[in-house]
Amino acid sequence: MVVKINENYLKLKSSYLFVEVARREREFIDNNPDADIIKMGIGDVTKPLVPSVIKAFKDAVDEMGNADTFMGYGPEQGYDFLAQAIAKDYEKYGVNLDTSEIFISDGSKCDTGNIQEIFGIDNKIAITDPVYTVYVDTNVMAGRTGDMKDGMYEGLTYLKCNSENGFIPQLPDEVVDIIYLCYPNNPTGTTLTKDQLKVFVDYAKENKAIILFDAAYEAFITEDNVPHSIYEIEGADEVAIEFKSFSKTAGFTGTRCAYTVVPKKLIAYDNDGNEVEVNPLWNRRQTTKFNGVSYPVQKAAEATLTPEGQKEIQEVLDYYMKNAKVIRDSLTDIGLEVYGGISSPYIWVKTPNDMDSWAFFDLLLNEANVIGTPGSGFGPSGEGYLRLTAFNTLENTKEAMDRISKLEF
Ligand SMILES: *Cc1c(COP(=O)(O)O)cnc(C)c1O
Repeated sequence: MVVKINENYLKLKSSYLFVEVARREREFIDNNPDADIIKMGIGDVTKPLVPSVIKAFKDAVDEMGNADTFMGYGPEQGYDFLAQAIAKDYEKYGVNLDTSEIFISDGSKCDTGNIQEIFGIDNKIAITDPVYTVYVDTNVMAGRTGDMKDGMYEGLTYLKCNSENGFIPQLPDEVVDIIYLCYPNNPTGTTLTKDQLKVFVDYAKENKAIILFDAAYEAFITEDNVPHSIYEIEGADEVAIEFKSFSKTAGFTGTRCAYTVVPKKLIAYDNDGNEVEVNPLWNRRQTTKFNGVSYPVQKAAEATLTPEGQKEIQEVLDYYMKNAKVIRDSLTDIGLEVYGGISSPYIWVKTPNDMDSWAFFDLLLNEANVIGTPGSGFGPSGEGYLRLTAFNTLENTKEAMDRISKLEF
């Protein structure tokens, strides 16, 4: 015998997208050393942590340096003070959670990636296309797919989202067991209304399926009819897990704190068709494989949910959303079709003249020295689109739009 690898990893396509973006950027800079490049592909926040977060963070670090207040291992599920603050935050939307339904973690990337392991290998999985690739790749690693063909893994159900369907995914033709939804969406920046999301909740109930709802961009919602939590929809607590993160909300991408809601009412089934509660399974998974988020980080996260913290964070969010409006308005003015950017920091631009995503990327890089992210990198339905983000400075955002406005398409 020789040591064997997990063959499923060989099915993965290397993450070509950001590597190729960086390669083309470097090549351009080598040929144009004086060019002033503006990066509008940034998928990361750029503003620092707000003052009340820094204060709570520092105070907690001081506690760690004092024998009387030092904290060792905390609960794997997170401290009760943070779970309480999160539960209270949900009350704004009329959602009542028990703290035992909230699992605090160091990121939604790991949670959305790990969650699939508590579900059977033969479940049928649906994802929207284009997609946050974590959902896809973690199911490939687990062995729920075949090989990739025409940009799609065999065995996965792709729910197309494009301008033709207004970025509203259709219910799958075949019955699926697990549906990943992310709203406001990364990469398209589009949203679902309560009624549109209810269609999926009803489908899940009817088909004994589960929805994995990624609400990483919830804080950016400005539209009244867009739900802040899937649990605003009646009965969703029987069929949905929700992922939330402090990353984009409060600038925690480098600080790391998130949480996952697994309602007590959520049921899946064993091989004999018996009902099994999902909450204890995720609890077992987390207590076995995860040892909690650091105390100072959880204190910092708690500070984001205080009135002072909320006010400070809102100013940062407003700054990004002003950029998003500048992008939307400027591109609309020159006749481009744009989506998203109203309840999201992402703007999804239809390429002019049916250009492909990479051709438009090259045009913006070469002619405007602006860097976006080609939509085709997020899935086959992203072809013909390009993602711009609102995470640069207002000055740079305006300058980038001025340059693009001078181009001839
Ligand atoms: C940024 C992002 C997250 C958050 O990930 P963290 O690990 O919490 O930083 C989750 N989902 C999507 C779609 C994202 O874009």
